[in-house]
Amino acid sequence: MQQLDRLWNYQKADMDVVRYETEMRQFPMRQKLLKLRNLVADQQTLVKGMENDAAAALERLEAMRALHEKLQAQCAEVSEKLAQEGGFESAQQARKALTQLQESDTKLRACEKDLSHMVRDSQHMGARYKEIRQKAIKARDEYTKLKAVYDVEFAKQSEKLNALKAAREEAAKDIEAAYMDRYTAIRGQAMPPMAKLVNGDQCGGCNMSLPAVVMQNLRSKDRIIECENCGRILYVEN
Ligand SMILES: [Zn+2]
Repeated sequence: MQQLDRLWNYQKADMDVVRYETEMRQFPMRQKLLKLRNLVADQQTLVKGMENDAAAALERLEAMRALHEKLQAQCAEVSEKLAQEGGFESAQQARKALTQLQESDTKLRACEKDLSHMVRDSQHMGARYKEIRQKAIKARDEYTKLKAVYDVEFAKQSEKLNALKAAREEAAKDIEAAYMDRYTAIRGQAMPPMAKLVNGDQCGGCNMSLPAVVMQNLRSKDRIIECENCGRILYVEN
């Protein structure tokens, strides 16, 4: 068997590996699994963001409650003083205290309004958080289940791929280094790197007609001749 024949056989085995690797990558279950994995990651980010928001809201709520308590205490103090006889030295002081009480009371009511909004918001937030969290858990469970099925499938696929690679290795035996090196170099630029001669004098890779001198060399010698147009190694099947 000539070197180019061996190389041609090697290319067949090589393309089997490439094809199967592509098939594995495009395997629908794998695609679904990757999508699901992204979904799980997105939902985890969302959940984390909501947890941070909730913590910040709780802090604001606590600050508002403290303010509310303070205002209540202020109002109570002034009211008590007003109720006492002789609580104030002058009518002016009493009037001032009354104004203060009114102001504090206005603030207190605004504060209560804010508080009730905050409580309502946090209830909404809590409901939404629960919903998202449940979705996240569901997606993660689905991912875990599918992953288990896929892992079994992947093991089978890997076994087949290894067999194809072993066949390729077998086909590489007895190919001289110079031939293999050239093949590998061209493989990086054109896939597949070898092309059969078609229609008498055309390169099967790019359909260009080959000059007569190239044709002559091709038929007579077992050496690497590349298509001038696409760079593939030309092969004549005997
Ligand atoms: Zn060509």
